Amino acid sequence: MRTLFTGGTVVGPEGSQQADLLVDGERIAAIGRDVPHSDARVVDAAGFYLLPGGIDVHTHLDMPLDDIRSSDDFQTGHVAAACGGTTSHIDFVIQTKGGSLRQALDTWHARAEGKACIDYGFHMTIADPRPEVLEEIGRLPEWGITTVKVLMAYKGRLQLDDAQLLAVMRKAAEHGLLTMVHCENGDVIDVLERGAVAAGHREPKYHALARPSALEGEATGRAIAIAQVAGARVYIVHLTCEAALDQVRLAQSRGDSVFAETCVQYFFFTADDLDRPGFEGAKFVCSPPFRTSRDQEALWGGLVDGTLSVVSTDHCPFNFATDKAHGREDFTKIPNGVPAIEDRLIMLHHAGVNGGRITLGRFVDVTATAPARLFGLYPRKGVLAPGSDADIVLWDPRARRTISARTHHMRVDYSLFEGQTATGAPIGVWVRGMQVVDENRFVGQSGSGQYLSRNRVRQ
Ligand SMILES: [Zn+2]
Repeated sequence: MRTLFTGGTVVGPEGSQQADLLVDGERIAAIGRDVPHSDARVVDAAGFYLLPGGIDVHTHLDMPLDDIRSSDDFQTGHVAAACGGTTSHIDFVIQTKGGSLRQALDTWHARAEGKACIDYGFHMTIADPRPEVLEEIGRLPEWGITTVKVLMAYKGRLQLDDAQLLAVMRKAAEHGLLTMVHCENGDVIDVLERGAVAAGHREPKYHALARPSALEGEATGRAIAIAQVAGARVYIVHLTCEAALDQVRLAQSRGDSVFAETCVQYFFFTADDLDRPGFEGAKFVCSPPFRTSRDQEALWGGLVDGTLSVVSTDHCPFNFATDKAHGREDFTKIPNGVPAIEDRLIMLHHAGVNGGRITLGRFVDVTATAPARLFGLYPRKGVLAPGSDADIVLWDPRARRTISARTHHMRVDYSLFEGQTATGAPIGVWVRGMQVVDENRFVGQSGSGQYLSRNRVRQ
């Protein structure tokens, strides 16, 4: 089937051009003026933007956490992603203690099987780096995985010590993989959390107070130093604060291969949101926590000057009424995570582009092109060009969208952005040439999403 988008503005990181765009089957066949299109279905894109489909490289769908799980699975999460203009994502497989990487990967493949409606890839979280597991890291590229993740927080669960970080990073470097790091000092946080609970400080706001930004800055610097010793390329996930940003900027100025992302919600909320009346603050509990308005300004600066390469979501939704409620008497029992997979493009465009902070090209770069380049999907994904997958977002810069849990597609009973109105939204979305969203309605098919086997990237 052929589809011709006529008269739209085709947007890329370097700028925009007025052009027709022809899709043939799953790929983009041509971009230009007066493209021959005898038998094509025509979509009038005049007055609209054509953006490469968004790529969210940090998500947790159907993720088990003790006796609960994140509330979106690979079907509901994909429908929500698509409705927000995201056509690919990379989710985190999590190795279980005592288990192998292959076992964990099989478990996650089964979760996506038959449900996926957009394309998806996997990162591998190393939770138990026994010698045989370190050896298994070398097999990841043949399974389509070119990134490993390690955590410096969540003591007793996912946290690795510095020696383990070094061992994983060395192996990753040996096999040309990128290491992603959650940078917080889990040992010190553990002490602060216990102290808060013992002192009777049990409300959601103490979650932020027990995870100060200084410890994110310290851990970021430590991760970068260990990576330097290991000869590893690193990617700092969900960076939230000036203290961490300074470390990344310093490393980049030395020429180290250090990259970083932030998540869209960190531009909108502060630690004050954890102190909303009643137990409302629990809706805003995620790690690292929301910081200060000064940190938000620093993040915008990092997005503009290139210190931050990517804006993702860390989408990890938990229902307020049931799951978040576990922490009513003790903030350490509130499941960490927030919903955002559907809101990323709309809210970043609104605050960033409409707000005069970033250009439309930069918006496309941090939400699609840079993620594709860094994570081994380029030029198949992340760009509108002949030969690339026809992952296309038809974007109406004038559409007004009021965000609400009543109308969003995420399977979660609240929205971070409840009641906020944004200007600019996707009104049509295509995945490999197949339309999956029409206006704000999902029209795709469960099971049509494909697993993305990713390439190694050397830079
Ligand atoms: Zn995460």
